[in-house]
Amino acid sequence: MRRLLLIYTGGTIGMITNSETGALESFDFAHLYSQIPELKRFELDIQVKSFDTPLDSSEIGPRHWQQLASWISEAYTDFDGFVVLHGTDTMAYTASALSFMLQGLRKPVVFTGSQLPIGIIRTDGKENLITAIEMAAAIDAQGEPVLQEVAVYFEYALFRGNRSAKISAHQFEAFAAPNYPLLAKAGVQIEWYKERLLRTPLPELKTHLALSNEVLIWRLFPGMPIELYASALSFPKVKILILETFGAGNAFSDSAFQALLAAFIQEGGLVLNITQCQSGAVRQGAYQTSTFFEQIGVISGADLTAEAALTKCMFALANVEQAARAQYLRTSVVGELSSPEK
Ligand code: ASP
Repeated sequence: MRRLLLIYTGGTIGMITNSETGALESFDFAHLYSQIPELKRFELDIQVKSFDTPLDSSEIGPRHWQQLASWISEAYTDFDGFVVLHGTDTMAYTASALSFMLQGLRKPVVFTGSQLPIGIIRTDGKENLITAIEMAAAIDAQGEPVLQEVAVYFEYALFRGNRSAKISAHQFEAFAAPNYPLLAKAGVQIEWYKERLLRTPLPELKTHLALSNEVLIWRLFPGMPIELYASALSFPKVKILILETFGAGNAFSDSAFQALLAAFIQEGGLVLNITQCQSGAVRQGAYQTSTFFEQIGVISGADLTAEAALTKCMFALANVEQAARAQYLRTSVVGELSSPEK
């Protein structure tokens, strides 16, 4: 019998309403489990592990990513796949982080959650959890797991984890991967798009737990008061600055802004350029308003999501030699970007 490890971290799926305040609060796995009798009907051996205190995913950060990565890594040989129940708010960050921390995966790690708690009749949680389990258990004709990467399953669609983003706070279709097509679609049958699935070149799982948060993110906006921001950007306190720029990677040509970035890079800092558009890629040099970035050595983040950019930087700072970091950020490591810098 195939063995799956179901990890419960919290999120709306397991929450119940506090009768005094009316706010949703996290509840333990026993409550969740009692609402889904279907779980007992799978011909699978499903073991459960739960955070001591289930969390709203706004509380989840690097410490919890490390906990999840260690649990999966310790259980890796004993289980055929992993399903992680997680709040939707930061699910794309956790899935992106784990894709870098668990390199060489040959087994599925499927994240899911829900927009409505499991105790509510119209919940999307049941379908999400049941299909996520089916996907994590799926094997091909050779008996190998169909999925061998970190993914997010939500509302009939399976996305690559490090391409996913939460796009809606109220629709059941809460996730999208604007720059990478679906890995699978759940209809009457589960349709897998095999040519889109990641296959690792590494011989075995390599778990990296170290992360560093010496990163700043600036989302550019018209009229941005650069002098207010300047004081936060000091190397080596900050080692990477992520810029969320306009369109295909463009910015205003403010001389104070340009001088600040040039000095930061000169001192040893890295600047990564990603777009604030929901889809598409940075193309530095395509417009006059991005040629300066090219000249001073800003790294193009191509079509990285903000979640993947942040977690990749946190990962690279702790695991990649300084001299190799810029090239690492430009290169697709676990399928997180599609168009390397030209
Ligand atoms: N605030 C919740 C969380 O992310 C939202 C959800 O699960 O959908 O934990």
